[in-house]
Amino acid sequence: MNYAGHFEAAVQRVRAEGRYRVFADLARQVGRHPQACWRGLSGMRDVVIWCSNDYLGMGHHETVLEGAVSAIRRYGAGAGGTRNISGTTHLHVLLEAELAGLHDKQASLLMTSGYVANEASISTIARLLPDCLILSDQLNHASIIAGIKASGCEKQIFRHNDLVHLEALLAAQPQNRPKLIVFEGIYSMDGDFGPIAAVCALAKHYGALTYLDEVHAVGMYGARGGGIAERDGMVGAVDVIQGTLGKAIGCIGGYIAGPAALIDAVRSHAPGFIFTTALPPAMVGGALAAVRLLKGPEGVAIRAIHQERASALKRRLEAIGMPVMPSPSHIVPILVGNATRCKLASDLLLERHGIYVQPINYPTVAKGTERLRLTPSPLHNDVLMDRLVHALEDVWDQLDLMRHHRGGLIYSARPERTATQVA
Ligand code: PLP
Repeated sequence: MNYAGHFEAAVQRVRAEGRYRVFADLARQVGRHPQACWRGLSGMRDVVIWCSNDYLGMGHHETVLEGAVSAIRRYGAGAGGTRNISGTTHLHVLLEAELAGLHDKQASLLMTSGYVANEASISTIARLLPDCLILSDQLNHASIIAGIKASGCEKQIFRHNDLVHLEALLAAQPQNRPKLIVFEGIYSMDGDFGPIAAVCALAKHYGALTYLDEVHAVGMYGARGGGIAERDGMVGAVDVIQGTLGKAIGCIGGYIAGPAALIDAVRSHAPGFIFTTALPPAMVGGALAAVRLLKGPEGVAIRAIHQERASALKRRLEAIGMPVMPSPSHIVPILVGNATRCKLASDLLLERHGIYVQPINYPTVAKGTERLRLTPSPLHNDVLMDRLVHALEDVWDQLDLMRHHRGGLIYSARPERTATQVA
């Protein structure tokens, strides 16, 4: 058997589709966020990162660093094993109480990432309910899909944010059959919000549990950073809120928050919680500091600047005809519509302009909707934004990429080529 040949062919297939993944060798530097040092073929160079999910720059905030460093000095580098075998570091208890409080829930449970939290929790919750039906939004994240698959339960997919479709699926089921509706507060690739109030109203009417992924909203929305559910006054209506410590919180880790009995059941039944080493003290200490800071007045100020920066960037890009996809959130996607061109645009931005934006290709998004996904932080100032806007104009001209017409249509800058030819 030619094992290597199979792996080489697998890589060749993604290369042929223009979606072979290459990650820039970047060194972020404390105190210089969002700038970093890039090690390219021609040596080291300063670049500006425009696609980080450290949305608020908390990974470099002095208070978070202090929380992490003091935790590592006090409790050591690793957690010493799974909590099942080695017990719980006191910091885990403090952070779980803090997260339960943030989401106004009875309890919370830490896991090693947002992905693991979804995979372990959804599979366990659904498996513990007899004949559970999972209803899942069409655009739910890969980790949610992994959790659904691992549950072995029946699933039905409802069209993205389509309440009529969701209701039709719910109405077709017996009232007393256990049902779990899984959806997101913000869909990370398009930047749109989940209709939390309406989904919860349907869940109540048809007797379903709700599970809300707030990975792209925790720390950034709501008066205390509790996410879209907090912003919409819907925390009490959602049964389980899932979040990450790896994005706006600036560390790593994931969690669920919800009713005490449900959290206790997941704690005792989920292999993804039980059989893996607990989060290290440094990350729990850093996350605890970040969550506390973002709950208070500094968090309110940071969130206001963050939203202002995102709005300013959207305005500036729209003014020069960039095909910014309609996003009401802090996520600013620019449509390219072709995998190879998306990668080329990303390469040109980095090599000619020192701007790092990772191309987003299939399977992260549907084929034909490849895009650059910009995530302005509170630290992306006007000077950096000027440089980005000029760089994008240059790259769009170089590659003859599509732009928005005033009427909303997309056209090529060169009249002899149609939009479809460009794509
Ligand atoms: N849920 C959503 C919606 C995500 O976009 C992601 C990651 O990007 C995750 C969960 C996984 O979170 P983490 O990166 O903490 O594993």
